[in-house]
Amino acid sequence: ALATDEPQYVPAAHRVQDRTAEALPDATTGFANQADTDPAIAANRAWGRAILSRSVGSTLGLDSIALAKVETADELDGIFAAATAAAEKWAALPAAERAAVLHRAGDELAARRGELIEIMAHEAGKTIAEADPEISEAIDFAHYYAERAKDLETVSGAEFVPSKVTVVTPPWNFPVAIPAGGVLAGLASGSAVIIKPAKLTQRCGAVMIEALWAAGVPRDLLALVDLASRDLGTRLVANPSVDRVILTGAYETAQLFRSFRPDLPLLAETSGKNAIIVTPSADLDLAAADVARSAFGHAGQKCSAASLAILVGSVADSKRFERQLVDAVTSMRVGLPDDPATQMGPIIEPANGKLLTALTKLEKGERWLVEPRKLDDEGKQWTPGVKTGVREGSYFHLTEFFGPVLGIMHAKDLDEALRLQNAVDYGLTAGIHSLDSEEVATWLDRVEAGNLYVNRGITGAIVQRQPFGGWKRSAVGAGAKAGGPNYLFGLGEWTRAELPV
Ligand code: GLU
Repeated sequence: ALATDEPQYVPAAHRVQDRTAEALPDATTGFANQADTDPAIAANRAWGRAILSRSVGSTLGLDSIALAKVETADELDGIFAAATAAAEKWAALPAAERAAVLHRAGDELAARRGELIEIMAHEAGKTIAEADPEISEAIDFAHYYAERAKDLETVSGAEFVPSKVTVVTPPWNFPVAIPAGGVLAGLASGSAVIIKPAKLTQRCGAVMIEALWAAGVPRDLLALVDLASRDLGTRLVANPSVDRVILTGAYETAQLFRSFRPDLPLLAETSGKNAIIVTPSADLDLAAADVARSAFGHAGQKCSAASLAILVGSVADSKRFERQLVDAVTSMRVGLPDDPATQMGPIIEPANGKLLTALTKLEKGERWLVEPRKLDDEGKQWTPGVKTGVREGSYFHLTEFFGPVLGIMHAKDLDEALRLQNAVDYGLTAGIHSLDSEEVATWLDRVEAGNLYVNRGITGAIVQRQPFGGWKRSAVGAGAKAGGPNYLFGLGEWTRAELPV
């Protein structure tokens, strides 16, 4: 149990249920007690099992959507030929005309917000609170890239030659915004697009694409495919008429794609192992809430999620922060994605491999502050877990996995904290909570990640305001940031060597 010699005040915003200080959990069993005695949670859980066990494609009506099932190489070649021809016409349009179509796409997406939220809950396990801003992000991509498309015509002295065919291979964790971002960027740049939604979230992808077709994007120009075999997947990526692949996924997938075709032009956002540093000058109330949200939003299944919190000096020693974090985490409501009260839903694939290890094993020096519990037989619904004592160089310190478990590390000063934060192979997002401007300046200067956040959570990048992308093993290929001014430039070639800034 945690020390109790400090004030027990926890801001209301951190809590779902107003429990008194006396009822604060024995840190290792707190959630269990709440879940076991709360009939609403029990009911949700039963309902959740029912929903999650429905097979996608029957009750969700996958048959009724326009997903071209590609069975043979010839069929795939036909799709490429049609896309290449459609790209000629599309690229010849003035950018303003393409922009008008994309603005309409934003409106069509907005008109489907309710439907998309429902599908995301059922197919991707997204809570309403997570799905709603994701749809906003997709809409933002449409309007943002529509406007940026015009920049491609206004750079004097250099002509932009778009890719003819862009292939988009998105992940299941952001099943609407990420595919929408890739597709809209490709279209805005003047390219045709072939998209293969993630198998687990095909319907999310399909409804999003239907919105774009409804906005006037020609069907040949934007093909939505489901491939019948792995060979066809290889063919999709390796086809010589593909001149860009936009991938969001694991670093290993990018390497695999490169093995299919070594000269493949990739624009890939790949993997993250992200940490938030909390220094003694921080607003600890805010830091605890931000760490909890960043770690457990969408049950930790974001490339941007916080997997580590690195506590500096007295923050580590006093235990107050850890206690606040435990309270924020144990009062988090775990349940069904389409229950508005749910703060953390299920994981989309049953936990196994690296994630199961992270959820169930302790390494030397580690102990649970909140031990994760499996709530269903399949292993899809877990309560959030927090372990402390994670050591430098350990498995948990360095390994990426997607799920609801956070590790706490201790550092004696900011130097050591930065060393721990930068030690990972990846560099996607990083955060610091500090109210000391010198500390923040030092951190900004030395931290190795693409998206840096000061005194806020590290997920939920906003289009245009926080263009999203990483460095080190978090990016492969052109490295431009999604939702930022340079992204479309990565989707074609300039006739002059100097790129516009
Ligand atoms: N853009 C998302 C965010 O900022 C993360 C996307 C991802 O997981 O790849 O949270």
